[in-house]
Amino acid sequence: MSNSTIDHTSNAKVEPIIPINFLHQIVQLDLNAGKYKHIVTRFSPEPNGYLHIGHAKSICVNFGLAKKFSGITHLRFDDTNPAQEDQEYIDAIKNDIKWLGFNWTGKVRYASNYFNQLFDWAIELIKADKAYVDDLSQEQVKEYRGTLTKPGKNSPFRDRSVKENLHWFARMRAGEFPDGARVLRAKIDMDSPNINLRDPIMYRICHAYHHQTGDKWCIYPSYDFTHGQSDAIEGITHSICTLEFESHRPLYEWFLNSLSVPMRPRQYEFSRLNLNYTITSKRKLKQLVDKKHVHGWDDPRMSTISGLRRRGYTPASIRNFCEMVGTNCSAGVVDFGMLEFSVRQDLNVNAPRAMCVLRPLRVVITNYPKDKVDNLELPCHPHKEKLGVRKLTFVREIYIDYDDFMEKPPKGYKRLEPNGEVRLRGSYVIRADEVIKDINGNIVELRCSYDPATLGQNPKGRTVKGVIHWVPITTCIDCEVRLYDRLFRSPNPERTESSVSFLDSINPYSLQVIKGCRAEPSLSNAKPEDRFQFEREGYFCVDIKDSKQSAPVFNRIVALRDSWTHRDPLRKPLC
Ligand code: ATP
Ligand code: MG
Repeated sequence: MSNSTIDHTSNAKVEPIIPINFLHQIVQLDLNAGKYKHIVTRFSPEPNGYLHIGHAKSICVNFGLAKKFSGITHLRFDDTNPAQEDQEYIDAIKNDIKWLGFNWTGKVRYASNYFNQLFDWAIELIKADKAYVDDLSQEQVKEYRGTLTKPGKNSPFRDRSVKENLHWFARMRAGEFPDGARVLRAKIDMDSPNINLRDPIMYRICHAYHHQTGDKWCIYPSYDFTHGQSDAIEGITHSICTLEFESHRPLYEWFLNSLSVPMRPRQYEFSRLNLNYTITSKRKLKQLVDKKHVHGWDDPRMSTISGLRRRGYTPASIRNFCEMVGTNCSAGVVDFGMLEFSVRQDLNVNAPRAMCVLRPLRVVITNYPKDKVDNLELPCHPHKEKLGVRKLTFVREIYIDYDDFMEKPPKGYKRLEPNGEVRLRGSYVIRADEVIKDINGNIVELRCSYDPATLGQNPKGRTVKGVIHWVPITTCIDCEVRLYDRLFRSPNPERTESSVSFLDSINPYSLQVIKGCRAEPSLSNAKPEDRFQFEREGYFCVDIKDSKQSAPVFNRIVALRDSWTHRDPLRKPLC
């Protein structure tokens, strides 16, 4: 019997919501128990860099959860650290979320919208003798905090009276002290086995201009003092973050339970997405940009959402990947191949086909009349008729790829060899009759003959195994192709030994630029971000920044099978 029910008002089938991960189960139980009528989640990035693939996972989890249960998601910038933040990052983050296919509800929110309220709550805690101003230096605070095996010890300033604390905190607020001179700390428990509860910092002095509040504040709340209360102000029902915050949850709850907040949301954690050969830390990605190891945040080798976008990944492929890797609490490393699999899956179905010769080798078809032209029509997709056809002319002189001819091929070689035959995709079978070389012995041209009876198909009884791609010399377009390899050589660049920087693991061959490639003429209409399967070469995307109609640039998104196929070092095109 089917589980679905009939909605008699519309006669439409209403599918029951099937929880597929532990967060779905939690929300379902809360809704069933009547704890909430509607769920509200939030995505709260710190605007200190561009988002990466790990954030895409978090976006999919938060927006996906709300969508599944007809709830809403807020976008809130966690902007408590003005020295590291920038409007450029805010704009890029908004763009990335939209590009991924999600929309936040209501206006963009900022933790800084709540600075007045947070300040009042800090006073509330001081008045309840649950917070104090500490004059210890940063190093001393650290030293007094103890370690996992050693309890902390109380600061000599811990027992200041409420009156004194109000006095010092007001002076901190008034800008009387330099950065780092004093902090406001929660008075919890310096013996706690959970280091986060050893009198955590609530406010620090920082004389920095803030992108939202300008010069209004010279003290800023810590992430821990901001995050839960912002959730409470916004009515977030399920505050979802990654596992490293699990040990912060008691603190999240301590603040909420100690303050007159409008509601007490609950924090849930899931494991971070870790991808091999990939960096997922804004701070480290920023180093790659600042030290010019890459050409900006959207360099197609970067694991940023804007880098993946420029490379040619589709939003659907990233969303599907995030779904595929699952949402759970066990730490693990996902193989980068899964992300590539996901984009191949999408593009195999949706990308039109085209031919592009990366290393052109001139072929003259000696028995093809000089003034003859065959006007061919090739399907844009082998299984999707609605993508239409592309026009291509077959003429006496064409280009094939330099790699598709070998004078002394190994056994089983299926491409062109002296006196061997091969089919040109969508047209004739040709035979290699003569090899022309320059004075250095380099092959510069092939003289071939074609079989007029083989247009489009083999006559009965004739088999030709190999099929290669080609373009007509007369109408092909000149273009640049950029091939990418992984940016890091180490499968685990973030966790190399402490003495070795992740920068040492950079792959010096991660980008190969090939100029002078020749593409079929239909590609002259390609627009930035159009994606294609170049037959036998992989999936490609028109570069969003550098490509011009007169000089197109194609980024290889992914090879047809696996991107570890290391090609020979770049050989100059021969024309
Ligand atoms: P980074 O170290 O790159 O700055 P972060 O966690 O400090 O990462 P935030 O801007 O604070 O970055 O993150 C916004 C949200 O994205 C947080 O809820 C965080 O848990 C989540 N997030 C960040 N990295 C990952 C990841 N690799 N996998 C899943 N979620 C992530
Ligand atoms: Mg952070």
